[in-house]
Order: sequence, then structure tokens, then C-alpha cells
Amino acid sequence: MKKTISLLIAVLFIASFCHSQEQTDKKLRIRIYSTVNTNQIVVTPSFGTYVLDGQTPIRKQDKLILKAENGKLKALMGEKVLFSKDSVKLSSEDLKCFFQITPSNAKMRRYDNDLIVLLSKDKNNLLLINEVTEDNYLAGVVQSEAGGASDNVEFFKVQAICCRSYMNRFINKHIKEGYNLCDDVNCQVYLSRANKNQCIEGATQTSGEIIVDENDRIIETLFHSNSGGMTANSEDVWGNKIPYLRSVVDSFSIGRPNYQWEKEISQKDWLNYFKNKGVNIKDYNTKQELMNFSQEDGRKVKLFDIPLTQIRKDFKLKSTFFDVIPWGSNVKLKGKGYGHGVGMCQEGAANMCDEGYEYWEVIEFYYTGVKIKNLKTDN
Ligand SMILES: [Zn+2]
Repeated sequence: MKKTISLLIAVLFIASFCHSQEQTDKKLRIRIYSTVNTNQIVVTPSFGTYVLDGQTPIRKQDKLILKAENGKLKALMGEKVLFSKDSVKLSSEDLKCFFQITPSNAKMRRYDNDLIVLLSKDKNNLLLINEVTEDNYLAGVVQSEAGGASDNVEFFKVQAICCRSYMNRFINKHIKEGYNLCDDVNCQVYLSRANKNQCIEGATQTSGEIIVDENDRIIETLFHSNSGGMTANSEDVWGNKIPYLRSVVDSFSIGRPNYQWEKEISQKDWLNYFKNKGVNIKDYNTKQELMNFSQEDGRKVKLFDIPLTQIRKDFKLKSTFFDVIPWGSNVKLKGKGYGHGVGMCQEGAANMCDEGYEYWEVIEFYYTGVKIKNLKTDN
């Protein structure tokens, strides 16, 4: 009997511990539909039951309408007005709950956990905030930003750690506006909850993990689509030397979808561009150099004192990593890679994971001298 009781106590103790662990799982406030001005939304629980302001239960068959009207936030269920106040919170009964939300002028999306609705400053629109656990948020970001790039969990672990590092670095970016981060590219894209299993696994299997530099500071996890076979030094793109953003030879990017590109430009336009920048194109050798520029021995930074980043911008090129050859009355730019080339190459990372490299090996390959730290277990 005594044994049974102590066993029962132990079970209860463990159960309550697990419960409180779940309950204390830190939540973030993420502004959703941050680029949309809307004055009315319809919310329906997709899974589980919700409670509106600790009072009214909202179930799967219910359609809760929230609208900004006469300077107040009005809540209706069908035709019935529930109340009119300044803010409301829809709380989920547990962490598995998710809901769907449809603004009057935007597409329906689904989100995990809770929803807070406030009036905008001018009281004409709604400010929508998803209160969500870190890993649910990260799974959603990983799927929104890179969901189609791979089906390999290992790749999504890499993505999740990068997104978690960004999240921790910028966690108070919008704190003065009443939330942590927004769902736009200005923070991290977060267009829905994750429903792709590999994205969810990527976030949960790396829970708490971030990337730090040798001084234990969270790194800036810059990435691009394809490095073209060699990543770039940070200072060659932005003039700012960052120790962990070093150029590395990257054979993993070769042959991936964004590895190569070509563009033809008329010789006249090409040469006039440099002429307008003060280059003497009448000089034979100068002209030859402009028509036969090569980066075969590695990435260069300038062409006749003009930064390749500027040339990329002006001619709308996919990368700065290109050679130039004469091509009839044109010049042909034969380019490699897509994006700024600094930090992690996404296509190369996906390829490394498919070849059997583990997520930390990918991170250590693209970010020089960094280490992975677990915020939940490491000091
Ligand atoms: Zn933002």
C-alpha cells in the first residue's frame, strides 16, 4: 500500500512538473498581417477550444467577428454582440490549439496558440498579435522562408537555428509598439503555422540552440540562395569586416538550380556605363579589360574602382560573381550564384544535408569559427 501511495505521489509529481513545464514555455508576441490595414476579422478555432477574455468559450463551429467600430473594438458571435471594449485576448486551452483568421481584405491564415487583438493608434484598424511559443513560431518562420527548399529534417535544423539566432538577437525590435517582432521581411517572414512535419521537427529538435561567435555573442546569420562556388567576405559586400563572415570555397553549391546565370548587354551600354563613371574607355587596354573581365581565380571586389556591388545593382544582376566576354555587338556576362554571397548558401546547405552532413557541420562550414550554444542547458 505504502509503495502504491509513494508511486502515486511520484507519478503526480512528474505529471504536475510536466504540466508546469508546458505552461511556463515562454511565449512571444508576433504581430501578424503587419502589412495589411484591416478593420474586421473572423476567427474560428481549427483545433481545440478557446476562451475569449477568460469568459466566453469559442469552439470549432463558432465564428467570432471582431471589428473596429466608433473607436471601440466590437466582438460579435453571428448577429449577437458580445461586448465592446479596447482589446481582447483569445486564449487556447493548451499548446496544441490553433485557429484560423480571415481579415475582411486578406487571405485566411492559420496560427498556433493565442491571439491578442488591439485597436490601432487611430482606432480605425485592428492590430493583430499572435502570442505563440518560440518553437511554434520558429517552425512557422522556417516553413514560410524555406519550406520548399528541401524535405530533409537536417536542413530545417540549420534553418531553425539561424532563425532562432535572429529571434534572440532582435527579440525587442518592436517592443515599444507592444510586441517582439513582426511577420514581415523587415523581421522574419511568418505567414502561417507550420504544417510541414520536417519544419516542425527542425525547430523542436534544436530547441534552445543558437549560434555564437568566439566572444559568445549571437551572430548575424546572413544567408543567400547560391554562392556560385565561393562565398564572399562581409567587407567586400558591405565594407564591414565580421570575423565569422569569411569567404569559403563552396563546392556544395555547384550545379544547384541557382548556380549559373547569363546576361547580354550591348557593348555600347556596357562601355558607356564605365565612361559615365570616369573610366577612359578610349584607351585600348582599358577597353579590353572591361570586355574581358574574369573572376576565374576567385571573387573580386571592383572593376576599375567601381564596386561590383554597384554594378550588380545598376544592371540588376543575380550576383557580383561574373565574367565578361565579347559577344558580337554585345558583351555576355557569365555569372555564378544568386544573392549577396555572404554567410550560408541555402542551396549548398541543403545539398550538404542530403550528402549526410549534420546540421552543426553545415553551420561551422559557412560561418567561420562559430559554435552552437543551447540557451536552455549551457551557461
Ligand atoms: Zn518587423
